[in-house]
Amino acid sequence: MPDASPSGGPLEPGLTIGILGGGQLGRMLASAAARLGFDVAILDPEPDAPAGRVAAHTIVAAYDDPQGLAALAACADIVTYEFENVPAAAVARLAEMGVEVAPGPLALRVAQDRLEEKSFLNAHGAPTVAFAAADTAQAAVAAAEQLGAPCLMKTRREGYDGKGQRWVEHAADAAAAFQALGGVPVILEAAAAFVRELSVIAARGRDGATAIYPLTENHHEGGVLRRSIAPARAAPALADQAERIAARVLAGLDYVGVIGIELFEMADGSLLVNEIAPRVHNTGHWTQDGCEVDQFEQHIRAVAGWPLGPTAAIARVEMLNLLGDEVEGWRRYAAEPETRLHLYGKRDAKPGRKMGHVNRVKPL
Ligand code: AMP
Repeated sequence: MPDASPSGGPLEPGLTIGILGGGQLGRMLASAAARLGFDVAILDPEPDAPAGRVAAHTIVAAYDDPQGLAALAACADIVTYEFENVPAAAVARLAEMGVEVAPGPLALRVAQDRLEEKSFLNAHGAPTVAFAAADTAQAAVAAAEQLGAPCLMKTRREGYDGKGQRWVEHAADAAAAFQALGGVPVILEAAAAFVRELSVIAARGRDGATAIYPLTENHHEGGVLRRSIAPARAAPALADQAERIAARVLAGLDYVGVIGIELFEMADGSLLVNEIAPRVHNTGHWTQDGCEVDQFEQHIRAVAGWPLGPTAAIARVEMLNLLGDEVEGWRRYAAEPETRLHLYGKRDAKPGRKMGHVNRVKPL
């Protein structure tokens, strides 16, 4: 029998890695894990989840379903996740059953609440825009007056891809924006007059070693990532700044795994952190065809206690997300010699849904 003690030593090939969440990130993690000889068990509420179809075991259950979690604990030697809104109680339940979850509970807690996240970042020397929290409409107006309008109101919890956000053009409009977001706790953020959006994908192993990929330049439409270019054109001072930020965040969270850190590049050359995602990240998909060890394998290596792999770019990549029926262009992309096609096997191409991506690869 292979050794099943991840904290005691590296997880041996042949053992099973559990993944909470069965979307495209879980699917690409599962493929990377399989390449390293692991079996994967996916837990997802949907019966036909993209990751379940490439995994050794699939458990169809709500994330907080005790029976589903028990079934996962019975077959997985370690558990990770592909999205940050996994209920904290699910992770706690797995821990009670003796199954380690990586990245750990601190990373989840910080990433699940924008107020905790920004407070954590500032406390660890990772600068952000000015912000203020509000739990009532009145407090929201006061916060908007304090920060100055326009400012951006975001729900503290459960926002993604630009959802759960409203611009506040005048401080007095903050009350209506607060109601429109459902009357839930929010933070207001000063508008970042960024010149460019960048991200850094980084990893930390069980031994505390870190590996940081080159900067990625990102273009969003309507809050959704459309396109990334990597390695981003960046002066060494900018890359150094990003590496320092990544190292502080990883150490501050005592992190194990891959993290995505979204950044704003300001006109004076400084970087502000927009948000952190405690998982593999859409802006890191370019690493599949631009680096020797991509973010998915890197994450599996980290959680399995293996040595981290090299992160240097071996090609320049333009990554395009295929949203909704854009996936129907697969024939054209498949015919382009410089293009690598990555499809997620989703059955239903709803408008705006991430169906796949392409990496257009050029020499460095
Ligand atoms: P988020 O959901 O926080 O990643 O935000 C989605 C997108 O909204 C970001 O990629 C930016 O383009 C934009 N955005 C978020 N926060 C701010 C801000 N404080 N100022 C200006 N633009 C922002």
